[in-house]
Amino acid sequence: MGRKVIKDVVCPFCGTLCDDLEVVVEDGEIVEVRHACRIGAAKFLTAQEDHRHTEPMIKENGEWKKIDYEDAAEETARILVEAKWPLMYGWSSTLCEAHEVGIEIAEKVGAVIDNTASVCHGPSTLGLQDAGVPSCTLGEVKNRADVIIYWGCNPMHAHPRHMSRYTAFTRGFFRPKGREDRTIIVVDPRRTATAELADVHLQVRPNEDYELISALRAAVHGIEIEREEVAGIPVEAVHEVADLIKEASFGTLFWGMGITMSRGRHRNIDNAICLIRDLNEYAKWTLIMMRGHYNVTGFNEVLTWTTGYPFAVDFSRGYPRYNPGEFSAVDVLIRGEVDAAFVIASDPGAHFPRKAVEHMARIPLVCVDPHWTPTAELADLYVPVTIAGIEWEGTAYRMDSVPIRMRKVVEPPESMLNDVEFLEMVIEKVEEMV
Ligand code: SF4
Repeated sequence: MGRKVIKDVVCPFCGTLCDDLEVVVEDGEIVEVRHACRIGAAKFLTAQEDHRHTEPMIKENGEWKKIDYEDAAEETARILVEAKWPLMYGWSSTLCEAHEVGIEIAEKVGAVIDNTASVCHGPSTLGLQDAGVPSCTLGEVKNRADVIIYWGCNPMHAHPRHMSRYTAFTRGFFRPKGREDRTIIVVDPRRTATAELADVHLQVRPNEDYELISALRAAVHGIEIEREEVAGIPVEAVHEVADLIKEASFGTLFWGMGITMSRGRHRNIDNAICLIRDLNEYAKWTLIMMRGHYNVTGFNEVLTWTTGYPFAVDFSRGYPRYNPGEFSAVDVLIRGEVDAAFVIASDPGAHFPRKAVEHMARIPLVCVDPHWTPTAELADLYVPVTIAGIEWEGTAYRMDSVPIRMRKVVEPPESMLNDVEFLEMVIEKVEEMV
C-alpha cells in the first residue's frame, strides 16, 4: 500500500471544523496528522487502537455476548417499537446523512429526538428564536473583524485553533497586520489561557453576565449607570469597553457555556443579541456561537429542514412538537417519562446529571458509538460503528452553519458498518414491525 499524504482533510472533533489537515497514511494506518491541534490529532491517531470493539454485543444476565449487526438491528427496532415513548439522543459526532435516517426512525416509532444542543447551546437557540440572528461566517471574521469578544468561552482549551484560524493570530484581507489589527476582549470570571492573550479581560462575577450585558447596553446608548461597579467591573471600565466596541469597524461576539449554562441561560443570550442589535446603530457587529461537537450544528440544521424545529422534538402524536424543557433529553430522563433510550455518537452516561443517568440505566438502552464509553457500560446493547470523518465520508456543519464535506482517510476494520448503514438496517426492521 505504501505511504501517502492526504491533503485538505477535515477534523471531526470541535465546531471549528478545521479543513486544512494533512494525514499521512502508511500501509493503511494513520501515522501522522499535520496542522491539527493536539485534540484533533489524537482523534485520528487513536482511531486504530487495538482495544476497539468490532462486533455488536448484547447483555444477557449481566454478561456481554457478541451478536451480528442483523440481530443488533432487530433488537434495536424491537426496543424502539415496543417502548411507549422512546428517547433518541446524541447525534452531534456523526454526519448529516445519519441524522436524516435517525429522524425518520424517530417519526416511525413516535420517539422524542434530541441532540447535545439541549445541554450546550440549546439556550442560545432559544435566545436566537426570541431576538434574531445577526450572524456572519468565520471567513468574514477573519477578513474584516477588528474587535472580537469571547464571552464565557475559552477557545485556547476548547477550540484550540479558533484564534489562529479566524481571529487573533491570522491575517485577513482587510486586516493585513493580523494580531496588531485586532482588539481581543475576553469576559470570564477566571483568568483563562484565552484571557491571558486578550487586550481587555473583564473578570465578571460568576452568574452576573446578564447585569454586565445590560450595563454595556446602557453605556452604548450613553445612559449614565448610577453605581460604582456592575458584576464586579468598575463602571469606568464598562464605559471604556462600550466606547471601544462602538468604534469597531467590524466586531464579532463569540460566546460559550459560560453564559448559556449560568444563571439566566437563554435570557443572557437574548440580552447579548440585543446588545449586538444596539451596536449596529453605531458599527457593524455580528455574533457566532462557539458550537462544541464538530457536527452539533448539522443535526440542528437537518432536524429544522425536516420538522421545522432544531432540537427537543417529540413525535409521539405522529407530528413534530417542539418544547425544550418538556421534550429535552435531560428533562424526560429526570422525570422518568421515557421507557427506552437509543444513544448515538455522544456519551450522556459521562455528561448527564446523575438522576438522568440513573433513569437511563433502568430502561432498555442501546448505545451506538465507535468507542466503548460510560454510556456503553450502562447499555443493554452496544453497537460499534466506524468513525465518521475518518473511515466514512459525509456532510458536517461548522459553528457558523457552513457545510463542509468530511473525507474518508482510511479503510474501516473489515465487516464493520457505519452509522448510516446500521440505521438503514434498523429502519427496515422497524417497518416490518409497525
Ligand atoms: S481546533 Fe477543533 S477542528 Fe481544529 S484541529 Fe483542533 S479539534 Fe480539530
